[in-house]
Amino acid sequence: MEERVYQFDLLKAQNAKLSKSERIYRIICESSDYGYIYQNLASDEVLTFGSFEKMFGLRLHSTADFYEFTERLNAEDRNMVLDTLFPEEKDEMLASCECRSLDDHSWFRIITRLEDNDNPDLEMDKIITIVNITREKSQNSELLYMAYYDTTTGIYNRNYFVSLLTGMLQNAEKEGCKVSLLMIDIDDFKKINDVRGIIIGDELLEQVGSYLKNLMVKDKLICCHINNDIFCVAIYDPKGAYSVENFYKGLRERFDQPFIMSTGVEIRTTASVGVAEYPDSGISALDLINCADIVVYKCKKNGKNNLEYFKAPILDDFLKNVDLENKLKTAVFDNNFMMYFQPQYYSCNRQLRGFEALIRWKDETGKMIPPSVFIPIAEKNGLIVSIGHFVVDESLKQYKRWSDYYGKKFKVSINISALQYKRDDFVESVMELLDKYDIDPSGVELEITESILIDDFDVVTEKLTRIRNYGVSISLDDFGTGYSSLSYLKKFPIDTLKVDKSFIDTLLDDASTRIITESILNMSHAMGFETIAEGVENERQFNYLASAGCDVIQGFYLGKPLPPDKVEELLNDL
Ligand code: C2E
Ligand code: CA
Ligand code: CA
Repeated sequence: MEERVYQFDLLKAQNAKLSKSERIYRIICESSDYGYIYQNLASDEVLTFGSFEKMFGLRLHSTADFYEFTERLNAEDRNMVLDTLFPEEKDEMLASCECRSLDDHSWFRIITRLEDNDNPDLEMDKIITIVNITREKSQNSELLYMAYYDTTTGIYNRNYFVSLLTGMLQNAEKEGCKVSLLMIDIDDFKKINDVRGIIIGDELLEQVGSYLKNLMVKDKLICCHINNDIFCVAIYDPKGAYSVENFYKGLRERFDQPFIMSTGVEIRTTASVGVAEYPDSGISALDLINCADIVVYKCKKNGKNNLEYFKAPILDDFLKNVDLENKLKTAVFDNNFMMYFQPQYYSCNRQLRGFEALIRWKDETGKMIPPSVFIPIAEKNGLIVSIGHFVVDESLKQYKRWSDYYGKKFKVSINISALQYKRDDFVESVMELLDKYDIDPSGVELEITESILIDDFDVVTEKLTRIRNYGVSISLDDFGTGYSSLSYLKKFPIDTLKVDKSFIDTLLDDASTRIITESILNMSHAMGFETIAEGVENERQFNYLASAGCDVIQGFYLGKPLPPDKVEELLNDL
């Protein structure tokens, strides 16, 4: 009796333990994100656990229900899923596949495992695990997307484009075809970004990208966004169905229309295009991209909104520029510059008004390099700021020496670059030098160009006003070459207007130039500006300008730019 009670207690304890562990398994199983199907192969009993019901909205009870389950999956994947659920080889321990839900929104991985019990008398179990892998899939496809596409524009990125282009070039070599590589650079994009903001800038890039995307033809015409405002297009066999000319015609037509932003803002712009051709300009993808880049740069310099082809001399020019740029850096370091001074005279009495300070660079071989060649390079790479500082310092130093020594009153006019003017400390740096050399500011004039005025009106005006309040005068150089409108100029505090040499050159031969020049002179006077004609080379020009009322004459006719010792001779003779 005692023995039986003991056994009963043991059984009870074992049962309690069992139901506890079953409960634990069930809790774990039910809280799992995985879905499970259990199938007993001998009895055909089927049970579902875990998140299966949540995933598919059904329970399975027998093998026949598997078909109902596959109905919840994408039709294209069903056969594959059935193969996984019922592996053909009986002894196969594992089968798996990835499939989509019926609505295509979710992805699942299905893994079938046979539990071999080792004991042939025991029933054989099949466990099918179903995992939702939607997030994993979308992360993968995002990574895949990022590997090939540019996120701003949705077209190919540079790396993928280079690999496609490389394949295209290999085909071209086999088939003896050409490939054209076009680099498209949106003109004035920086200005659009600065003025309208980067959101509009990005939207513009997106619209250009989607325009290009629509033109893509596999293996024939491919496009990418290189970076910033630069796109590349490769055309296979450009003498065939797709040509550079047709592409460019379409591009021009697109850019002739405004780009309309989501806010309704209309952006009008143009594009510069450089073309390099395989095999003439280069044989690798990177060679072609580099060559196209060089032509785009040239195209921008030549007035933008155009298409230019790469030709060997362009490379020579470019290399010359690079060489010059390196030499220029050394020249700035060694201070290999000097100032020349060109006299200016009053037209009424031919008395000296003053001198325009003009920079000269003698390179290490003794060759004189004209400022028209190196100033644009210095403006591009920023060296102009150091050069400009030298110009102001040296010109003021000379001016102080001469005005003290000769005791005569005259002006010095100093050319100021836009980049130099834009610096926050520009006005202060000029004032400091005036103080340092103890100079009367009324003898100093700064020559600026219209490109300075186009910037933020308030900032420009505030600086001009401070300079003029200090006693320094302002002269507007190269008048007539830019956006020149006298009514626009009226808004700025300016003292003098220099009529550009191009007007003086054609004045005597061209009646319309005469009319324009005369009206510029008349209106300038009416607005209270002093006028200077530059580049006056002969007596006839001088006489005409003097009678038209131009106040001051500067040019080879009355005097070329002079080195300091010649200026001293001139001042001595006064
Ligand atoms: P710019 O300010 O318009 O200077 C006038 C240019 O015309 C000077 O050339 C001068 O030598 C030249 N010129 C004067 N009279 C005549 C003439 O009768 N006939 C001809 N054919 N040319 C004449 P330069 O010195 O070669 O300077 C060229 C340009 O380089 C200047 O044009 C100016 O834009 C820039 N530049 C010169 N010096 C400086 C400087 O110190 N700083 C800055 N930022 N730019 C400078
Ligand atoms: Ca000038
Ligand atoms: Ca000028």
